[in-house]
Amino acid sequence: MTAIYEQGLAPNAANHVALTPLGFLDRAAATWPDKVAVIHGPGRITYGELGRRCRRLASALAARGIGPGDTVSILAPNVPALLEAHYGVPMTGAVLNAINARLDAATVAFILRHSGARAFLVDRDCAAVARTALAEFGSKLLVVDLADPLGPATGGVGDLTYEALLGSGDPDFAWHWPDDEWSAIALNYTSGTTGNPKGVVCHHRGAFLNAIGNAITFGLGPETVYLWTLPMFHCNGWCYTWAVTAVGGTHVCLRRVDPLLIFPAIGEHRVTHLCAAPVVLNLLVHAPDTVKRRFDHVVEVATGGAAPPSAVIAAMSTMGFHVTHLYGLTEVYGPSTLCAWQDAWDGLDADAQATRMARQGVNLLTMAGQDVIDPATSAAVPADGATIGELVLRGNTVMKGYFKNRAASDEAFRDGWFHTGDLAVKHPDGYVEIKDRAKDIIISGGENISSLEVEEVLYRHPRVMEAAVVTRPDAKWGESPCAFVTLKPGAAPTTEAEILAFCRERMARFKLPRTVVFGPLPKTSTGKIQKFQLREQARALGERQDA
Ligand code: ADP
Repeated sequence: MTAIYEQGLAPNAANHVALTPLGFLDRAAATWPDKVAVIHGPGRITYGELGRRCRRLASALAARGIGPGDTVSILAPNVPALLEAHYGVPMTGAVLNAINARLDAATVAFILRHSGARAFLVDRDCAAVARTALAEFGSKLLVVDLADPLGPATGGVGDLTYEALLGSGDPDFAWHWPDDEWSAIALNYTSGTTGNPKGVVCHHRGAFLNAIGNAITFGLGPETVYLWTLPMFHCNGWCYTWAVTAVGGTHVCLRRVDPLLIFPAIGEHRVTHLCAAPVVLNLLVHAPDTVKRRFDHVVEVATGGAAPPSAVIAAMSTMGFHVTHLYGLTEVYGPSTLCAWQDAWDGLDADAQATRMARQGVNLLTMAGQDVIDPATSAAVPADGATIGELVLRGNTVMKGYFKNRAASDEAFRDGWFHTGDLAVKHPDGYVEIKDRAKDIIISGGENISSLEVEEVLYRHPRVMEAAVVTRPDAKWGESPCAFVTLKPGAAPTTEAEILAFCRERMARFKLPRTVVFGPLPKTSTGKIQKFQLREQARALGERQDA
């Protein structure tokens, strides 16, 4: 039976339009045609121009036969073309595949093949990798040399330059609003640290919602000046590619993450917001005093992508930055939880505040729900801050699924939840706290040891800049923690015994690292410490020590 409120009240073209972030650009271009939308070195692009450039890109791609069902790949650092591709490519109905610019040629070739790319836009800094990948890929596709004015002057790969491509396009191109908000807008590959990467398919609806959710969470507005320290190829820049445009803010592009560029850019453009992985914040914290700058305005920083140690949050606050902690995955369009501030925390000292802030918190307003469940029974774990379970999420900003990988999609979506693979506890206030990725947890003598918890203590050591803890085989306990530590620049040397003494005062005995290794830590371009590499080193060490 149709309910009374449904009779004659069906959705129609006037009251039901597919959600898509593409409409943000048309609105911004109409509302703020002369406002600076993009800053790139000395270059400026107004919203009016950005709108025309994206339509040109869409028109030029469409004229070359690209449309619904096609994939367009791009390999570039944070340049305006990568931002424009977030609009121009889906305006044709095609799907944007922004590839991690630091991947090796074999993985890029895998992605081109797996995604069935029809066009490939390449920055000159990535040309060598792209050339090898294209040779391996073998098939013919349109290759465009981005020829970014701030990039290398020569050495591009491609059939034509990006500006020539735009020149052939129509600035008034009538792009097609998607008929269905469930249609794909982006294909983002996970880092694939343990095998071939998986292609995460995102839809227009989720991209719209997560952009709005992020804009509200991070307090963006027309006065926002957003610095691109987070790669746009990482979950579409956590949807900020769309969120900043939604509010008519200004995008400040950045080819390289370097404190030597970041501090001056913040000062010169009066940057109000930036996002970055904790390792990038640590770079800022440990930059030489000659490079560091203090600003007379508050800079909002959102961090995530890996657990931010509270010591890093506290150091950023001391430098005058205001930190928001976000958690998420590629599968949920980037940020899906945040550590929402509570007024009661105002009265705490800086360290206690940072400890609260290091928790991953509550679901973003655009994510329907989250829980921590027992992996065996799927029942919610008690909110006791101690029982570990898997963090699961549900809502409209969860991916469509993995591209051409039904088994992995079914596995990820079992029991009506998206399974993150992250192990967490739920505190009495409902805030979640990640303890480890499932594969990183250390089981020593039957006890769970959270690598993040041990790292948290190591980061508090006055000479430690970075730390990562992984499992190593242990003849007596099965596994035990092995710590890898990088000291602060210029810090006096210290010893394993001294580090262990520091830890012993601050953690239960069974959690103590059995080994401490000093040196630099291997990292991915999205700021994650490559624990699988460290695990291999730790295994060899453990076997040697126990032999
Ligand atoms: P990949 O899976 O390719 O490494 P993602 O960006 O999708 O790339 O990584 C998501 C993972 O990063 C999460 O599953 C989690 O383990 C980790 N992560 C992200 N944000 C946080 C955070 N704020 N705290 C702890 N871990 C985080």
